[in-house]
Amino acid sequence: MTDTTLKNPPDDTTMQSAADLAQSAIASVKAKPTPRPFVQQYDECEAHGQYPLNMQDERGGERWYPGGCPVCRNQANAAKLLAASNIPKRFVDCDFSNYVATTEDQQRVLRRCEAYASDFAKYRDSGACLLLCGRPGTGKNHLATAISRHLLDRNARQTLPFRAGKDSADAAGVHCDG
Ligand SMILES: [Zn+2]
Repeated sequence: MTDTTLKNPPDDTTMQSAADLAQSAIASVKAKPTPRPFVQQYDECEAHGQYPLNMQDERGGERWYPGGCPVCRNQANAAKLLAASNIPKRFVDCDFSNYVATTEDQQRVLRRCEAYASDFAKYRDSGACLLLCGRPGTGKNHLATAISRHLLDRNARQTLPFRAGKDSADAAGVHCDG
């Protein structure tokens, strides 16, 4: 539009071309930019090797992962959660792999605890808990710690009360009677 057209009353032609201009301006704003081809990028962790920096979502958009090696990040998170847990220091190294199940009963209990840890989300949602009862020295604390660590290693964010003593089972969690 020139100064002349601004000073004169708009005729139909001017109105039409202004409408066309507006239309094409709106269309150009609405038009999607030509998508860049997705290029997968990687970085390298000295301990865990190559890991992806970005991914393509279901709409074809590019997403960037949070910084750093995902395995290192996971380990750091798990260590933070472990430090914040109530697991006594002498038990922190206990896991399923170093639980010695010599009797048939111990093997059965081990399998039960492993299943509880694997399906923890299901038990948590239903509010169920696992109560370990038995004589002193049978490995209750070991197994309770193993369950807790299994979940912590997977960065479980849910409340996981670790209780030694005769507490009532009031939430999904691991309770020992001694
Ligand atoms: Zn790493």
